[in-house]
Amino acid sequence: MTEEKIRLLEKEARLLEIPLNDRKRLTTKVQEFASEFLNELPDIKTYFTEESLPSPELNPSVSEESSELGDILSEFKKEVLIPGINGASGGHMGYIPGGGVYPAALGDFLAAVTNKYAGVFYAAPGAVRLENMLIKWMCDLVGLPNKTSGGNLTSGGSIANLIAVVAARELSGIKARDFEKSVIYFTQQAHHCVGKAIINAGLKEAVIRHVPMDENYRMRADILDTMVEEDIASGLKPLIIIASAGTTDVGAVDPLDEIGDIAKKYDVWYNVDAAYGGFFSLTDYGKKKLKGIEKADSVIIDPHKGLFLPFGTGALLVRDKNKLYNSQHLPANYMQDTLGLEEELSPADLSPELTKHFRGVRMWLPLKLFGLKPFRKALEEKLELTRYFYSELEKEEAIEVGPQPDLSVFYYRIKSEGGDSNKLTKQLMQEIHEDGRIFMSSTSIEGDFYIRVAILSFRTHLEHIELALSIIKEKTKTIIVS
Ligand SMILES: *Cc1c(COP(=O)(O)O)cnc(C)c1O
Repeated sequence: MTEEKIRLLEKEARLLEIPLNDRKRLTTKVQEFASEFLNELPDIKTYFTEESLPSPELNPSVSEESSELGDILSEFKKEVLIPGINGASGGHMGYIPGGGVYPAALGDFLAAVTNKYAGVFYAAPGAVRLENMLIKWMCDLVGLPNKTSGGNLTSGGSIANLIAVVAARELSGIKARDFEKSVIYFTQQAHHCVGKAIINAGLKEAVIRHVPMDENYRMRADILDTMVEEDIASGLKPLIIIASAGTTDVGAVDPLDEIGDIAKKYDVWYNVDAAYGGFFSLTDYGKKKLKGIEKADSVIIDPHKGLFLPFGTGALLVRDKNKLYNSQHLPANYMQDTLGLEEELSPADLSPELTKHFRGVRMWLPLKLFGLKPFRKALEEKLELTRYFYSELEKEEAIEVGPQPDLSVFYYRIKSEGGDSNKLTKQLMQEIHEDGRIFMSSTSIEGDFYIRVAILSFRTHLEHIELALSIIKEKTKTIIVS
């Protein structure tokens, strides 16, 4: 009988709703696990190399039967938390770290439990307003005009760059047959997600101009000017200029102000990729360094970098939100209830995503709870730590450092008269990785092997820099002698 069958199914289905007491027990258990992780954090390595690779298949894999939370957490710790780079560690100085401030996790918890649908204003006016308020705050921070600016919280800088490129393409009104004549300008230091954005935006056939750089890897604005002028004269159509406000590789900030003037002079979409460097605008030094960012048509900024949020939080900011809306909005029959109730633009009309993670809460909660001050101070501290680290390494006879850091990224290598610097530096990298107390990554600058330092985890303090210095000095000494 149908009703009986439904009742039986319901009994099983209701297992998905956890009763109060179990809920408390489970939540406490996860909370204790997280707390233990944070307590142990200062004493565990930042990087575990190959020996600790997880089992090829997480075991036991998904099955029909339930498992004990304790067992699940043990497996998570052993197989997931330990292997690889510890993204929460203050010893993380590779790639671009951020750390992940704890209240962001509480925000995620609230977003997940309440499952508020933050895609459209009609469904969750408060959620959309909260995200739009955060976007406004960031627009204001980088100096985009208050009345017209807007944007979208994304999963990261890569998707934000993609949306920006699509907006520029749509606004220009070019058709596929025009792609071969459209020109996109950036330096070879631009993040590789810019290249991916171009592919994903269908613009692979566009003309790519790698604008030459000065000796500090900053775009040569004067050459850009000539390039654009010549391209126009030869019948091409400049489409986008992409500047970097802190390159990932070496931390260089392009001359944003001059580039902005050039973009305006030739009426070209100006995208500033400040995924890494954008939040340094919270410091006086950064504000000056990033002068001209306010001239951008679009800005990419990653709260999971300079605002120390957990991975998965990026943002696209635009000068004119209507342009973004026009490039991403499409109506749909089943969305008709949302029409006419939109007092504010909805995230779903400003990005390719419809249903999405309610990212705003993980950003809003920490900002409200801490206030801005500790964020500013932490960013200032990171700048000072970088300068200190750089100047201490510069004193070392056996070490050659790259240019003075613009922000909090720089690179260095072992200097070797007559020896093979690349080989020795590679060995140093390997030994730092094997040691694992701190983590740094490497890069190739004009074909040479360098170790990169990126200081942006909120947990990185003087003690970590001292530790890193002692590890580098000690290992370099033995490498050079042997
Ligand atoms: C990190 C970074 C990106 C890519 O952002 P994700 O958040 O990793 O997707 C783009 N540009 C720059 C300059 C970056 O530092």
